[in-house]
Amino acid sequence: MTNTDFSALPLGPTLLDNLTSLGYTRMTPIQARGLPLVLAGRDVIAQASTGSGKTLTFGLGLLSRLDVSRNDVQAMVLCPTRELADQVARELRKLARALANVKLVSLCGGSPTAAQTATLQFGAHIVVGTPGRMLKHLQQGSLSLDALNTLVLDEADRMLDMGFADDIRKVVAFAPAERQTLLFSATYPDGIAELSRGLQRQPQQIAVADEH
Ligand code: ADP
Ligand code: MG
Repeated sequence: MTNTDFSALPLGPTLLDNLTSLGYTRMTPIQARGLPLVLAGRDVIAQASTGSGKTLTFGLGLLSRLDVSRNDVQAMVLCPTRELADQVARELRKLARALANVKLVSLCGGSPTAAQTATLQFGAHIVVGTPGRMLKHLQQGSLSLDALNTLVLDEADRMLDMGFADDIRKVVAFAPAERQTLLFSATYPDGIAELSRGLQRQPQQIAVADEH
């Protein structure tokens, strides 16, 4: 049987205590299967439906590796829409609140690029946003991924539906080859396997069926 106790995970006391204070007592099925792989540094393809707790599965992974004493971007989360990016940012801020001085910056289309560029000048540890806008910042030099260790594609099936495959590949070209790449999707169409082949190394694939 899978252990669903967060304390079974290789996480520091700060993150564990914060989970308790948030009222997260048991891992959901995708977390129980995914977190041991994520925390071991593996590339993962995770398929689970909406509301299954995917954000925490990648969130604890990237936060456990974050070094806030450095002033560079260590994690990037790509999302299909601003609404979804905002949801991810909110959840990550909750998970990160026990860690001092984590700088998370949202970079989505529809907001003025200049204001985002000004914000980026103060530094960022985590960037969350949509592929097109991320690419714009990378191309104009206002964002660097030289220190990136974790790349997350959230709702990858929807990003493909929205025609973001090319932008995603262009964004990833700016990232170091040595990194962890986590791909989350509610469904597993052919395009996901193809995207994974281009971005991931020996990914572990996990799927959690809906409970009825
Ligand atoms: P998904 O991305 O799979 O659609 P989310 O990551 O947005 O799902 O999580 C859905 C909701 O469940 C969020 O409100 C989140 O705070 C909550 N949640 C996630 N993991 C747990 C947990 N282990 N215990 C209790 N609530 C959780
Ligand atoms: Mg989600």
